[in-house]
Amino acid sequence: MDNILNKLGLNLDEKARLTDESSFRFGCHKGVPCYNTCCKDLDIFLTPYDVLRMKNRLGLTSAEFVSKYTEPVMHSESKLPFLKLKLEEEGTCGFVSDEGCSIYEDRPLACRYYPIGFGIYKNDKAAGSDFYFLIKEAHCKGFEEEQEWTVAEWRKSQGIDVYDDKNKVWMDIILNKKMLSPDLEPDEKSLKMFFTGSYEIDSFKRFVFESRFLEVFDVDEEEQELLKNDEVELMNFAHKWLQYALFRMPTMKLREK
Ligand code: SF4
Ligand code: SF4
Repeated sequence: MDNILNKLGLNLDEKARLTDESSFRFGCHKGVPCYNTCCKDLDIFLTPYDVLRMKNRLGLTSAEFVSKYTEPVMHSESKLPFLKLKLEEEGTCGFVSDEGCSIYEDRPLACRYYPIGFGIYKNDKAAGSDFYFLIKEAHCKGFEEEQEWTVAEWRKSQGIDVYDDKNKVWMDIILNKKMLSPDLEPDEKSLKMFFTGSYEIDSFKRFVFESRFLEVFDVDEEEQELLKNDEVELMNFAHKWLQYALFRMPTMKLREK
């Protein structure tokens, strides 16, 4: 389930590439003989929106969630720090239960996509367009089920469109880093900024409202209220700040001196 990272580029046989209209047979429910067996021995990379949904589901601060349920991993392609879900000692995901996923409504994006992976074209002709592929693993009996899906129907049924929309700017940041300066090792300050802006929404909120942030950046009263009260807006704002801080993109307005 490391398909989140595959978005950042992968070499795949053309024939294996799927589009939104491509169809496949698949079903996953309590009756399949392999039920629950796939929630172990896997790398589940987390997006910022995953962290936000899961920490709220569990009633934790972002720092508590990060420390209890995740482990850091350096993404070799972008040289940026990512988080993956920490597994139990025996290699099982801590959220799996006899009834399936105990946080199903807030499960991470990687779990939603499975058994689909996705990538992005890197050639000039089709730069920026996404494609998909099936992850066919021998242990997964879901492909023997009768139900047919198009990729678009699968994405909709799993709430993937919503997650992709919330993570879009963040994904662009990683892709930008990978395309523009793949070999550049970010300095400690940039790594810290990326980590806070990506995964530590509570620290980022304190940074905005309890530091000199609002003396430097021009954020009107209405937006400030929104950022105080809506975590998804705050997350989007954090990603815009990362675009400014890491790439000097014109996504933030500076106060006039
Ligand atoms: S979060 Fe849920 S769906 Fe994902 S691996 Fe864990 S138990 Fe399975
Ligand atoms: S292995 Fe496949 S069919 Fe079985 S529980 Fe996992 S996703 Fe569902």
